[in-house]
Amino acid sequence: MEDKRTETGVAAMAACYQRFDPAAYLQYNYTPPRADFERKDSIVPWKLACLHRAFTEGDVSGELLVDIGSGPTLYQVLSGCEVFNQVLLTDFLEVNREELRHWLQGEGGCSLDWTPYLQHVCKLEGRRPSAWTEKAAKLRQVITDILPIDVHRPQPLDSDVLPSDGADCLVSCFCLESVSPDLPAFTRALGHIGRLLRPGGHLLLIGALGESYYFGGPGVKIPVVPLSEAQVCASLSESGYTLIRLEVYTLPQDMRVGVDDVSGVFFVKARKD
Ligand code: SAM
Repeated sequence: MEDKRTETGVAAMAACYQRFDPAAYLQYNYTPPRADFERKDSIVPWKLACLHRAFTEGDVSGELLVDIGSGPTLYQVLSGCEVFNQVLLTDFLEVNREELRHWLQGEGGCSLDWTPYLQHVCKLEGRRPSAWTEKAAKLRQVITDILPIDVHRPQPLDSDVLPSDGADCLVSCFCLESVSPDLPAFTRALGHIGRLLRPGGHLLLIGALGESYYFGGPGVKIPVVPLSEAQVCASLSESGYTLIRLEVYTLPQDMRVGVDDVSGVFFVKARKD
């Protein structure tokens, strides 16, 4: 009975995503005020600082980084691309994979200019902002593929795309809670993606706190599992991860721009047991 309910919920989520609009989503979440590089309390600089710190502490290393549910965005791999020789991007929707391919091929047609993001991460790395062209080239060199994924499948990626012991690191931002119909499905998805990670490998997870919906385009209201910090910690431990650090960002009033009802954001660094 419960399996049937979850199956129906997962199918309903997949149906919601058929109207996802990458350009609108980028406009809602990845332009000012949410991406204001002059402000320390803007949400995107906060996320970039968390990722920069996590990737430069020295414990995250290896050959292969996989980003789970990339959507149409690149910000989440701008620090990791300096540490890993190979980066795989993944998403459920072809429209998002297409958006990422536009950037990767460098032939224009992108819905967002990632230059200020590249410049900002260069600054975090102590490089001159003009080094952004080198970072863009590096990113294009290390991203070797953009693959379909479904975190609700026990085997989220095709079986032959990863080495047999799994990736060295996973990053995933705002994916699991916004594609799961309920908390058990979120926890299960966390377990499914863990199968892509080698034992001892790291998971860097960013997600929404207290969010019940977001807009994936004009009139495209997508339900989200509202999470608390305690639920995130319990789901991690249930799914075979040891928490290293949890950081929380609370949205300032002027960051609540009517495209969702998110109240905060968590950043997790964890290790697979
Ligand atoms: N990672 C991006 C970010 O940080 O903005 C995008 C997050 S967006 C809220 C959620 C993403 O999950 C969308 O790109 C969507 O296509 C993807 N998605 C939807 N269903 C999925 C599924 N079953 N498995 C994996 N990803 C899914």
